[in-house]
Amino acid sequence: MKVLIADDDPVTRKLLKRTLDGWGHETFAVDNGGDAWEVFRTYRVTFVIADWMMPVMNGLELCSKIRSSNAAEYVYLVLLTGNDRKEHIVEGLNAGADDYMTKPFERDELRVRLRVGERILNFEKQISEKNSQLVSLNARLEELANLDPLMEIGNRRSLYETIRRVHHRACRYLHVYGLIMCDIDNFKLYNDTYGHLAGDDALKTVAGSVKQCLRFSDHVFRYGGEEIAIVLPDQDIETSMKVAERVRKNIESLRIEHKGCDKGVLTLSCGVAAFDLEDNDSKWETLLDRADKALYMAKTSGRNRVCSYCNETGALSGPV
Ligand code: GH3
Ligand code: MG
Ligand code: MG
Repeated sequence: MKVLIADDDPVTRKLLKRTLDGWGHETFAVDNGGDAWEVFRTYRVTFVIADWMMPVMNGLELCSKIRSSNAAEYVYLVLLTGNDRKEHIVEGLNAGADDYMTKPFERDELRVRLRVGERILNFEKQISEKNSQLVSLNARLEELANLDPLMEIGNRRSLYETIRRVHHRACRYLHVYGLIMCDIDNFKLYNDTYGHLAGDDALKTVAGSVKQCLRFSDHVFRYGGEEIAIVLPDQDIETSMKVAERVRKNIESLRIEHKGCDKGVLTLSCGVAAFDLEDNDSKWETLLDRADKALYMAKTSGRNRVCSYCNETGALSGPV
């Protein structure tokens, strides 16, 4: 253990150093509080034995300074004092010391107090290791709780969180944003023709390909079954339509065989809606509903196409 000894009395200092060296510790001995602070900062000492009265900075000031230094590891502080009056001890502990010893110290007492300190430092270390394990585990759990394991994109829960956030930001800073609802065409037939496992593979491929069409700042989610929702912050209806068309084309160009479809390949239909502040109905749920209506139109008017919802007229238009 690295132990810092700070005492201006040469006899006590040397005796402490010799004793602690003899017990196998790595010691740093200084004769004033200023040097003690420098050594503490440089060598990341975790155990400090400091005299109460010493030049430059006294033991109490040193304790307070160390406590407010936000050291990465816990530091165990023992104050050395020639005075064992109760108020004196309380003052020392109040300044941040963990323990105190009255001078002249006894070897056996030093050994026991050192052991107590070591035990506390070990506990502290274990707790902080466990804590950082928990922090990374929590981050991973949070990630998993928001992810769809098959498509490896966000799930519906994270869609709702994201769209709420994006919507709030749009209202506050007078921005727009777009929403695209995508649905694979005749996917039930795909499963029936090629099997459920091939269906899973197709879902994975489609999701991966949708992701590739988007910018880093866009968000993509599995809305359910073979449906994907895309949130496009800061995009109006025109640019959202362009993105949807790019996504649709990209899926078609994958040329995943789907015998039962007109094109002979797997295709996607998209419904697009966008939020703008002139629209009185400013709920994000409304936008989901509008994108869904536009998707329904894309389906009923022939599939493999993009349709949109017009906020002013409520009209559905498509395909572009
Ligand atoms: P439409 O063009 O009107 O969307 O027709 P559809 O057949 O795609 O739509 P429908 O809603 O009738 O069927 C969706 C299919 O998606 C049925 C379901 O078995 C399949 N599906 C949903 N989730 C999964 C999944 O995780 N894996 C696989 N393989 N299939 C899935
Ligand atoms: Mg479908
Ligand atoms: Mg569907």
